[in-house]
Amino acid sequence: MDPAQATLPVVLALAGIVVALVLSIVQKTSYQQLSQNLYDQLEKLSTISSDDLDPARYQQQLAKSSLSTRAQNILLEIYRCIDQDREKIFDFQQKSASSEVKVHLAETLAAQINRVIESLTEPVLMVNQYGEITLMNPAAVNLLGLEDVATGTPLEKGLQCDSLVQLLNETRRRKLKSTRLAEIELEDPDSEKHWYRVTVNTVTEGNSEGTSDASFGAVAVMRDISGYKAIQRRNAEFVSAVSHEMKTPLAGIKAYTELLADGEAEDEETRDEFLGVISGQADRLQRLIDNLLNLARIEAGVVSVSKKPRSLNDLLDEAAAIVQPTAEQKNITLKVELSPMYLGVLADRDMILQAAINLLSNAIKYTPDGGSVTLRSRMSDREVHFEVEDTGVGLSPEDCEMVFEKFYRVKKDQKMASGTGLGLPLAKHIVEDVHSGTLTVKSELGQGSTFMIALPTVQVIEHAS
Ligand code: ADP
Repeated sequence: MDPAQATLPVVLALAGIVVALVLSIVQKTSYQQLSQNLYDQLEKLSTISSDDLDPARYQQQLAKSSLSTRAQNILLEIYRCIDQDREKIFDFQQKSASSEVKVHLAETLAAQINRVIESLTEPVLMVNQYGEITLMNPAAVNLLGLEDVATGTPLEKGLQCDSLVQLLNETRRRKLKSTRLAEIELEDPDSEKHWYRVTVNTVTEGNSEGTSDASFGAVAVMRDISGYKAIQRRNAEFVSAVSHEMKTPLAGIKAYTELLADGEAEDEETRDEFLGVISGQADRLQRLIDNLLNLARIEAGVVSVSKKPRSLNDLLDEAAAIVQPTAEQKNITLKVELSPMYLGVLADRDMILQAAINLLSNAIKYTPDGGSVTLRSRMSDREVHFEVEDTGVGLSPEDCEMVFEKFYRVKKDQKMASGTGLGLPLAKHIVEDVHSGTLTVKSELGQGSTFMIALPTVQVIEHAS
């Protein structure tokens, strides 16, 4: 065979392969181009705003493109569909925009609520429907010792306070929207005991609210009510102390009235004696009620105060004159050593007089016969001072701290004189709350006491003239 004839089929076969390859490359390139064009057009359509829709203009644009007529027709059809559904699309676009805003707002709100809960001084603790801790603010972590407890920990494992565990779990298991209240006593990290009012509310989980299979978690908010508890306790003590103080004179009055009624006072002298006791007890009752009323009025701020520039020395002279007879009865020397200077104070006359009398009569009451009581006044810097010093029984350091408390009376001295335990608290209120001064005491047991008052001074022009 001619060699040229022998190679011909091979050459033809090779040429065929090359043509097929070229064709496939050309075809592939034009498909790619076409699909890219289509893709671009479709992308444009997906972002078109409803305001820009104009099928006629779009048709013109397509005509200028390199797309086949078929492709143009398909795109135009899609465009028309979009145009027909423009309302729906517009609505959808708006909804999606507004839900994006809502999501953003919800996220911001959640972050804000979180910050508020974190910054609350009230401990807050929340559990989910399975009784796992889902939220605890720093105050709760601190109070309940939850530093090493992670969210998701079962309540019983994480929390050492049984009553709180029980309260949260019982509320959660009720499966009803409800609120429970309880008061519990807890120790803080410094081992100080505090009373807390715990409010536990159910929290609906997910979207189950109102449905029969609603599931609930619970959140506890704890408020420190130690101050309120202390007031409650003091009020109870106060009522019991007042009742006790009133009972004694009332019992005396009743007993002596009965003796009189039964004709037990056979002679004039005995009758006078009985009447004297009744009158004395009635006076005691009167004193107690007056002191109580004065104290209550000052504490409530309803007392009418009439402060005017006055001479402190004049007021002290008056107080000394009032107690002088009592001092004489006990053979106590009352020394009055007032400053020769004019001591001007802005004072309510009756109140300062009352405070000075209370201090002077105490000094006389708690000084044994034959002792002495000294009333002094002086000016210092911007204050005027007066003090009542006695050579009486004195007070221990503990009693010095307690004597300004209502109804406090030193037990060992109760027999020395009758009293209500209200004279010093009243004087303190008058001096400190009404006149912005100070009332303090220094004392030594068996040696005597000094009650000291400092009041802000006033410049009195009238006096200078
Ligand atoms: P009371 O009516 O009992 O005198 P106060 O409030 O005036 O009530 O005084 C409270 C208590 O303080 C008194 O019961 C007394 O024990 C003590 N006390 C007050 N003044 C003196 C004093 N000058 N010396 C010693 N103890 C005093």
